[in-house]
Amino acid sequence: MKATILTLPGDGIGPEVTQAAVEVLKVVGTRFGHAFRMIEGLIGGAALRQGLPPLPDGTLDSARKADAILLGAVGDPSFDTGDSSRRPESALLALRSALGLYANLRPARVWPGLEHDGPLKPSVLEGTDLLVVRELTGGLYYGEPRGRAGDGQSAVNTMRYSRAEIERIAHVAFRSARGRRRRVTSVDKANVLEVSRLWREIVTETARAYADVTLDHMYVDACAMKLALAPASFDVVLTENLFGDILSDEAGAIVGSLGLLPSASLGKGPGLFEPVHGSAPDIAGRGIANPIGAIASAAMLLAHGLGLEDEARAVTAAIEDALRAGIRSADLAGQEKAASTREVTAAILGALTSRPT
Ligand code: NAD
Repeated sequence: MKATILTLPGDGIGPEVTQAAVEVLKVVGTRFGHAFRMIEGLIGGAALRQGLPPLPDGTLDSARKADAILLGAVGDPSFDTGDSSRRPESALLALRSALGLYANLRPARVWPGLEHDGPLKPSVLEGTDLLVVRELTGGLYYGEPRGRAGDGQSAVNTMRYSRAEIERIAHVAFRSARGRRRRVTSVDKANVLEVSRLWREIVTETARAYADVTLDHMYVDACAMKLALAPASFDVVLTENLFGDILSDEAGAIVGSLGLLPSASLGKGPGLFEPVHGSAPDIAGRGIANPIGAIASAAMLLAHGLGLEDEARAVTAAIEDALRAGIRSADLAGQEKAASTREVTAAILGALTSRPT
């Protein structure tokens, strides 16, 4: 197949891990006979440094025309000013909104060989394989009114959801569950928030079309606790924007490192694929970032963005091979015996190349 993939490396470790994922996509293209055209764009602090807005028009235009988008990370402490529209992170919110990417899929599972690398006892972690389905274009991150009030000493954000927004993300969760263990846990704060009560009502209604999927509801505080105590009990976790942001980071920490987690943001147009982690300024430029989140995002791009399931499975299997062989970046192994970003990437590329297509 022919496909144009826009890469947006962004800031901090973004370029380091994106480079790794691009190399993997190039090998997949060669081995499976696809013509992937890779083009690169500016976003976040990288765009601001060129005197452009965080999401330049040219980048948005390329994103709209691409078949899929691979992003590294945005966020640069030198642009942490009061003006939120000039922060690198604003680019991501604007891009998600402009492309109508309302469904964020964040899988978290124990990779083979990493059962002992997380903070939890292996017996608790065993069998953990969950998918957070997070609503991405509504809720507190987008609701109006927002901002500082007149004297600057109070501020407001608004959590707002409509029936249509809740229904469409609930459908994504139920459809995803059908390809998994057929269980959806909808997470809200319905004991306190009106928005959550509407959420619960509509998710329950939507579930009627999926009699083969089991639905339960959980308050977000209880869910945060249960994720740490019994992560293997979850299959699909359906939730709104802010709760999903927090719970998926927790899920990442449980399975060993935030650096392992991929994500897909889907809507009507091209999908956006990016590791869950941020720009990690504390380790940027040192060549030690874990590229697995970005490479697993490339696998999601192949599956969800281009419909290339076999190719996605090959990438996932190559990651597993490298981990089984004992390759560990610093976030997993500690500084002593750690492999660099390049070494982890080379091991995955080696495994991908030596696997039969
Ligand atoms: P972060 O995810 O960048 O880092 C959190 C911790 O995890 C750090 O200690 C970091 O070193 C470590 N880490 C993250 N990714 C890693 C990887 N691949 N390998 C090894 N270790 C890794 O979160 P933060 O520090 O809260 O935020 C840093 C910047 O990134 C901020 O500007 C924030 O706004 C931005 N951010 C961007 C995104 C995104 O682009 N999607 C997401 C989250 C945060």
